[in-house]
Amino acid sequence: MPRIILMGPPGAGKGTQGEILSDEWQVPRIAPGDIFRAEIKEGTELGVKVKSFSDSGRLVPDEVVIEVIESRLRQPDTQAGWILDGFPRTVAQAEALDNLLVEINQPYDSVINLDVPDQFLIDRLKARAIDQGRVDDTEEVITNRLEEYNAKTRPLLDFYADKVKQIDGTPSMPEVTEAIKDFLA
Ligand code: AMP
Repeated sequence: MPRIILMGPPGAGKGTQGEILSDEWQVPRIAPGDIFRAEIKEGTELGVKVKSFSDSGRLVPDEVVIEVIESRLRQPDTQAGWILDGFPRTVAQAEALDNLLVEINQPYDSVINLDVPDQFLIDRLKARAIDQGRVDDTEEVITNRLEEYNAKTRPLLDFYADKVKQIDGTPSMPEVTEAIKDFLA
């Protein structure tokens, strides 16, 4: 019953690795970025609320994200385990998550940080813009996302200091998957 928090800067490969592990373990991958993109596409109330943040590469306000993730983690399919991909991204989110996990009695097993240097990230994100057509993979928005990461998410590495496992995210996708699986084995 794996319960994993997958962290790393934008473009580190969290989504890809999260999807591979979610398929393999048959547990849900819970990714607020994906939830927001789907809501924006459908034009829901939540979608309207988060669109300007998501499009500009700024973090959606904590209370909005926390509510979305709380209700997602309370759904029955999470009993099998889960992979959190892109949450938490601020210390306030991490604190809310800690409280929630105690409440629902689902402690996490591991925090994994995919470590990738900035220039690598920029190249990957630009490539993804061409591949996947994501509106937030333009140069200006990429800069905002890295800024948000460095200001608000990087401090989480201290929050989880004694729990986080650093994994080099620069090798090929299968090699990174193997490194994660080796660590969790
Ligand atoms: P991602 O797909 O993880 O790169 O997320 C895309 C966008 O969704 C981010 O740039 C933010 O605007 C928003 N987002 C995703 N996760 C979070 C989070 N944990 N906190 C705040 N905003 C988030």
